Amino acid sequence: MKKALALSVILIVGCLALESKSAKGIVLIPPELEVAFGREVAREIEAKYGLLGNPELTVYVDSVGQRLVGVCDRQDIEYEFRILDEDKVNAFACPGGFVYVTTGILKIIDNEAELAGVLGHEIGHMVARHGVKRLQAQLGYSLLSHLLFGDDEGVRKIANITANLVFLGYGRENEFEADYLGTEYVYMAGYDPQGVIELLAKIKQLEGREPWAVEVLLRSHPPTSDRIQQVGQQIQEFPTLSGKETYTERFREAVGDLLVRLKPSPETVPTGILLEEDFDDGIAQGFGDEVGRWRVVDGRYTATTEIYRFSTFGDLRWKDYILEADFINARDGGLLARAQDHNNAVALIVRPTWNIIYWQIREEGRWGAWYEPKNLDHTPGEDLHVKVEVRGDELEAYVNGTLKTSLSWKGFPEGKIALYLSHQGGQYWDNVVVISSEGDGAGQH
Ligand code: ZN
Repeated sequence: MKKALALSVILIVGCLALESKSAKGIVLIPPELEVAFGREVAREIEAKYGLLGNPELTVYVDSVGQRLVGVCDRQDIEYEFRILDEDKVNAFACPGGFVYVTTGILKIIDNEAELAGVLGHEIGHMVARHGVKRLQAQLGYSLLSHLLFGDDEGVRKIANITANLVFLGYGRENEFEADYLGTEYVYMAGYDPQGVIELLAKIKQLEGREPWAVEVLLRSHPPTSDRIQQVGQQIQEFPTLSGKETYTERFREAVGDLLVRLKPSPETVPTGILLEEDFDDGIAQGFGDEVGRWRVVDGRYTATTEIYRFSTFGDLRWKDYILEADFINARDGGLLARAQDHNNAVALIVRPTWNIIYWQIREEGRWGAWYEPKNLDHTPGEDLHVKVEVRGDELEAYVNGTLKTSLSWKGFPEGKIALYLSHQGGQYWDNVVVISSEGDGAGQH
């Protein structure tokens, strides 16, 4: 029995390349049947991976999903959004309205607009009925409905096959269609659609840096860069982006602390190059808004709102590293070394406007005293190359190759990095590089 089932899965999978064009215009199984069957597929998936036992976080993810459902093109089924306790970066939709995200993908998300991007894409698959269409195209309507209307054994068999199909992802056209629909819903629900691109950019970056962390579904065709391009074109056609929000604070309030508790095991701490970003592709890959809104303008990374701003990047487990960046048209900004979040960090503040450079600790959202202030000796508006070396408790800051100031600080022994800019316009960050200086640099993952 088990052997026969395995064989049929292989046969189905073997047919995937021949995705049938006859799927168009076929009579689809009724929604009630799709839901009953989808529930069985959902059961298979949950049995395999296990749900995350965190009702609070699940309710939040579901609330974002329902906001998108409210504007989507398919209202004949109910939708449910659940979290799988799985470190791989992944998300998928089963027939019948069941959508899953993994804890792995939640960890790379920085705001609600990005989460909406993930959920919108999966809703798109559901609206276009990609799962059911493919299943029907491969089994045929009569065999499928026979199996589904038949005994429980038949339903279970098909559910098992479908679970495997869901994991394999859909074809190129279906993925583009899901992106298109999802981005529409993200926009219509009031989110900044740039979140869709930011999320895709993070996946693209992960593919290059930690390919094992991205589930096959997201790595499969079409190439992520093509998806980014398509969504980018779509966004340009939206009438206006004013009033569209990332809801960064709301996201952080809802999941920030919960996700910190989901930190992966320490043996996966990365080594070598942690970040190389020149923003030339128009995307701030992996950077997340913490406070304020950041944009890539002409290949340079800048803040566009009227408050002080931070944009964080990276991993809370980063320990010893060298952080370098170009501060273009520098007036008042800085680099946050070992940031826990935008409220807690060791910061290097660079102020050509006041001719000063110093260290400052930000705790619980408040700036503390200045440490080791030194003359900067640079003109406001001049471009600066800023480097921070962080080793253990010791921090050193270099400007244009010269050691300017150093600090010994025991707080925040690990953390991510952040870029900081004051409200003074016209200044940018560019060419950000972070290199791990931990261990001997063997770089074995
Ligand atoms: Zn998809």
